[in-house]
Amino acid sequence: MYEMCAGVEKPGDALVWHVMAKNTATTLCGQRLGQRVDGASAQRAGHCSTCMAQFGKLMTASPAVGSPAATDR
Ligand SMILES: [Zn+2]
Repeated sequence: MYEMCAGVEKPGDALVWHVMAKNTATTLCGQRLGQRVDGASAQRAGHCSTCMAQFGKLMTASPAVGSPAATDR
């Protein structure tokens, strides 16, 4: 299960939407989003290209959706 989280890609950078797995504290691109961003300012934000790439990879690489046992840790 994944959700979108608005945040900055780098400190001082433009706001973007990251993808975050439900059971992790970091986004797919490895960010730890400190603060919640309000929806109004997030509406015009773009998407984090790294997260999008990772997300696309996950979607194609894991046909068995919902099996966390497949992750390696
Ligand atoms: Zn990201």
